[in-house]
Amino acid sequence: MTIVLRNCAVVTMDGARNEYTSGHVVVDGNRIASVGDGPGPVVADATVVDASGCLATPGLVNTHHHLYQWLTRGLAPDAALFDWLTTLYPLWARIDVDLVNLAASAGLARLARSGCSTSADHHYVFPQGSGDVFAAVIAAAQEVGLRFHACRGSMDLGRSAGGLPPDHIVEDRDAILAASERAIEEWHDVSFDAMVRVALAPCSPFSVTGELMRESADLARSKHVRLHTHLAETLDEEDFCRERFGCLPLDYVESLGWSGPDVWYAHGVHFDDTAVKRLGAAHAAVAHCPTSNARLGAGIARAAELRAAGATVGLGVDGAASSEASSVLEEARHAVLFARARGGPGAMTVREALEMATMGGAAALGRTEEIGSLEVGKLADVALWRLDTPSHAGITDPVAALLLGSPPPLKLLLVNGRTVVQDDVVRTVDEYALGARTAVAHRKLVAS
Ligand code: ZN
Repeated sequence: MTIVLRNCAVVTMDGARNEYTSGHVVVDGNRIASVGDGPGPVVADATVVDASGCLATPGLVNTHHHLYQWLTRGLAPDAALFDWLTTLYPLWARIDVDLVNLAASAGLARLARSGCSTSADHHYVFPQGSGDVFAAVIAAAQEVGLRFHACRGSMDLGRSAGGLPPDHIVEDRDAILAASERAIEEWHDVSFDAMVRVALAPCSPFSVTGELMRESADLARSKHVRLHTHLAETLDEEDFCRERFGCLPLDYVESLGWSGPDVWYAHGVHFDDTAVKRLGAAHAAVAHCPTSNARLGAGIARAAELRAAGATVGLGVDGAASSEASSVLEEARHAVLFARARGGPGAMTVREALEMATMGGAAALGRTEEIGSLEVGKLADVALWRLDTPSHAGITDPVAALLLGSPPPLKLLLVNGRTVVQDDVVRTVDEYALGARTAVAHRKLVAS
């Protein structure tokens, strides 16, 4: 099937950063067949979309999420991270396959509505007897139709051993490693157009032992999958690392083998100058989550400095319980605003923020060959934004309209060539039915 988008502005995010005021994008099957200026080629039997007044961009990439948290949004609304976590751990201990599948479906539908075509998810809560919740998240991604990087998370450092989570929601280290290996064998797809890939993701320095960090890194490298964890999110975490390990969070994880271009860290709010330099030299990646960091009062990550040092920076919405809107476009908007609030007007351009939401995310997930830009031969992950409504009409620069204006309606979202959103409605699942079921599940969880 061939789809031709015609008469739209196009921001390609290709190597030359080509942009077209009135251009086209042609999708053939799951690949981009043509992109450029003017109306493009005439293709027999193609579906032609008159995209006048719209902007075509690469589908956005979300590099950090905890979809299961969709059912526990809006709680502890004024708490900092450690208090927020200790409030929510007891609720998360009650999740099961059905709840996780519902949460992930609703969360992914919301992401799709924000122009996101590829998402990572970091799932680290596996209560005993809860069933295969990892498979339940992946099943939701397949149903909604997003490209998905499922991070097999873990916690093995309970409160009695000096960690933050209660003992009954941490797992045994050997069981974690065996489950991680099974997850890779069952789900990790190395093909160019893979819809599911797996990464290993012990949760954080205060919920995981050093042994698990080291052994997870060894396992990931032997299986050629990527590594992900939370790092340097709050000053409380920094204090924890100083007291327990006598060093800063990055020193600690690097001593356990966590360094290099196959690692992406979530947050990185409190990296000092030395850490920024080291991360740049190692070509490591950071999932910048400005909304969650602001919601929990953690601070503002040094995204511009990290990029300048040579690190990869993608954007993440983070778990829905600390980022209720869960919109990648909103993260891009907050990224540019917060960078300037922190570093002055020249700290970041709107195009750099869009780059983090597209190519930056693709690089963090190791997918720069396949996604993140509109180029011939790449996968057909395309967002088409309406900029002709009263909220954007009169803004000449479409990137300024997208990044600085209110979130525009999404005329179309293609993922792997499949229509996931059309005319601002998710076409693969019923968002309203999921919303109603979410409300019921939330009330039950909170009351139990
Ligand atoms: Zn997180």
